[in-house]
Amino acid sequence: MPAPVHLTFLGGLGEIGRNCAALEVEGRVVLLDCGQLFPDDRPGVDAVLPDFTWLRQRADRIEGCVVTHAHEDHIGGLPYLLRELSFPIYGAPFTLGMIRGKLQSAGVAVPDLVPLEDHDRRTIGPFDCEFLPVTHSTPSGLMTVFGTPQGLILHSSDFKLDPTPVDGRVTDLARLEKLSADPGIRLLLADSTNADSAGSSASESEIGPVLQQIFEEHAGRRIVIGAFSSHVHRIQQIADAAVATDRRVVVLGPSMVRNVGLARQLGLLRISDDVLASEGELDGLDPARTCVVCTGSQGEPRAALALMARGRHRSITIGDRDTVVFSSHPIPGNEAAVSRLHNDLSRQGARLVHSGQLGVHTTGHGKADELLALHAATDPELFIPVHGEYAHLAAHHQLALERGMAPDRVLRCTDGDRVRLDSDGLRHQKRVSDEYVMVDTAGAPVSERLVEERRALAEEGFVVVRVVVDGKRGRLAEQPFVETRGWIEPDEREDWCVTVADEVVRVLAPVLVDGERGVRELARLVRRATGRLVNARTGRRPALVPVVEVR
Ligand SMILES: [Zn+2]
Ligand SMILES: [Zn+2]
Repeated sequence: MPAPVHLTFLGGLGEIGRNCAALEVEGRVVLLDCGQLFPDDRPGVDAVLPDFTWLRQRADRIEGCVVTHAHEDHIGGLPYLLRELSFPIYGAPFTLGMIRGKLQSAGVAVPDLVPLEDHDRRTIGPFDCEFLPVTHSTPSGLMTVFGTPQGLILHSSDFKLDPTPVDGRVTDLARLEKLSADPGIRLLLADSTNADSAGSSASESEIGPVLQQIFEEHAGRRIVIGAFSSHVHRIQQIADAAVATDRRVVVLGPSMVRNVGLARQLGLLRISDDVLASEGELDGLDPARTCVVCTGSQGEPRAALALMARGRHRSITIGDRDTVVFSSHPIPGNEAAVSRLHNDLSRQGARLVHSGQLGVHTTGHGKADELLALHAATDPELFIPVHGEYAHLAAHHQLALERGMAPDRVLRCTDGDRVRLDSDGLRHQKRVSDEYVMVDTAGAPVSERLVEERRALAEEGFVVVRVVVDGKRGRLAEQPFVETRGWIEPDEREDWCVTVADEVVRVLAPVLVDGERGVRELARLVRRATGRLVNARTGRRPALVPVVEVR
């Protein structure tokens, strides 16, 4: 009997982010991606990770990590996991270059990085793997065919079926058809991000002509264009449009500068030295012949575009001779920040062009027709939808059923699910933790309680009251000390501190005379007296922090 294969989904099934799965045969583990989820509105949290406990318990059995592509939701967890564990990482040179940069800037030891080329075959742990090209919104994406004792498992990676990708490197459906015919695909794990969008995604190469047209229509004006720094093919098309309209290209933002450097070095991005100018050369360039490519099109507050919008960028001042192009859609959750950015840039005088007006962006994830084409090419015996929020996973599940897959051949999984693949098919096993592990910049965990406390402080502020009791004489040793932040207008603060102190004296004086000396009871009285005043003034609930000392 061939050994069963276990798959453990540590993240990415139920959210767009923190993709991480483990494939396992006889206790030997190979990781598939290790991403993070952006912390959004969690104050003081740098990254949201999968719970790595299950991996820690198998630290010496992890034989490697296959990384499908260079997006944060696939590589962003590595700097944290590699602080504790070490294993070789397999990926395309661009992906590995991005990982190396991340690890070095985090001060984490770089493990063995094993480069993969398209169509490479390699034994990793217990698996005979084959790596096939996929098109996506970052270069060198790889899908992985895992040869296992239970047949072939195909992981699609994030993919679309772009017939005319900028680099001509198409998703290799032909190879999948061959493998599907012989020996057959046992299990398909496929990207669900756009499963609920009908039709097909537009080709990336359709964006280039739109950009060039915009550049022509805005002749005589400086172009500032925001894009994802990992979207090398978009940057290529921007640079091509700039060259065609006789503009120099300046890239701004540390990640943009780093990624453009890496992609040029690997031959993935072709911008000649005489086209590219540095930030320091901006002053000497004719703005009408300049195209600035920068980060921040998602409204990230510290990125170049946000600094420009607030008039705080060190080299660019936006004015009425600038056209700002947003070459990306707002990611769900970022709409408000992006709309603020639009307003701020407009206020500075800029003309805006964004994806709501013109085809200046296309998705990197295949829509329903593309997913169906993948199902048709692979014709898998079994299927698990992966990579998506619940609704995306459900939509992909539905698509597979509509294509004619028997319901018992599709298994719905979410974060924390562990499944067994054997000759009888797929079965759920005992679940592992699906906890959202939040970490700070140092990588230390941040609890939900702490985040709640920070939210409360951010919304309500605090009032601290310190009283010192003279235990022998049964009275206050000094006037209470009161301090507040975030509760009341700063110019009312001083008056209110006096008011609170007076009220605390009024409440405590008689009970101290009566002999009350218990620190806890006194603290309770201080809290109640302060709370009454606070409530009467603002009706809000700042954190009340009584500090009582009996001498
Ligand atoms: Zn991706
Ligand atoms: Zn992804």
